[in-house]
Amino acid sequence: LEKMRKGLPTKQRIEGIKHVIAIASGKGGVGKSTVAVNLALAVASLWRKRVGILDADIFGPSIPRLMNLNGEPNMTNKGQLIPLTNYGVKCMSIGFLVSQNSPVVWRGLMVMKALQQLIHQVFWDELDLLVIDMPPGTGDVQLTITQQILGIVQNMSVFICPTCQQKTHIFGTDGVLKVAKEMDLEMLGDIPLHTEICELSDRGQPIVIAKPESIQAQYYKDIAGKV
Ligand code: ADP
Repeated sequence: LEKMRKGLPTKQRIEGIKHVIAIASGKGGVGKSTVAVNLALAVASLWRKRVGILDADIFGPSIPRLMNLNGEPNMTNKGQLIPLTNYGVKCMSIGFLVSQNSPVVWRGLMVMKALQQLIHQVFWDELDLLVIDMPPGTGDVQLTITQQILGIVQNMSVFICPTCQQKTHIFGTDGVLKVAKEMDLEMLGDIPLHTEICELSDRGQPIVIAKPESIQAQYYKDIAGKV
């Protein structure tokens, strides 16, 4: 985290926010938002920290659904957006501002600008940690961020059959280790493919909140312990 903070030019620091963790992935649908939400909730509940989530996944914002939040944010009298809060975590999402049904066709510079606006025009007040759910992809925005990321999480690493407990590495095992080595990044953890993670997320009840003592929640808590 310290490495990341040092790497950020001063002008990009966000007032009132002590630490920022960006969750990024090369493509969508790999569990990035699920990791962002559960990591944020784990940090907030384990250490009673003031945590916010910024849903910067402007192509497919899923934080409103995952955090069971909807409605339009109010504004401060200085025109800043006031985050919506659930499970003790403040959230801001482009999904609160743009109709879920309207197509969002943004690219490059516009994405960068929208991100900056979202980051700076939200009244976070004081936060110990802001978790940013990044848009998927390998464009400039993501590359700049990934040069400063903390490590790699291998999501859906293995499927454990609930009947016979047999482990199947559906997506292989070597790929992620190779990437971690190439990029000189730490492996922060593995999260198995588990139906409950999916079912609860889709109901707006992240596993870290819905089943805090479960082994599935523990995977996210372990990652929180490393950041
Ligand atoms: P992304 O943010 O990368 O688009 P999401 O976090 O929205 O991905 O996850 C995509 C889908 O995969 C969701 O339905 C989510 O519930 C499910 N999912 C994510 N991680 C897991 C996991 N470890 N086990 C089972 N389902 C998962």
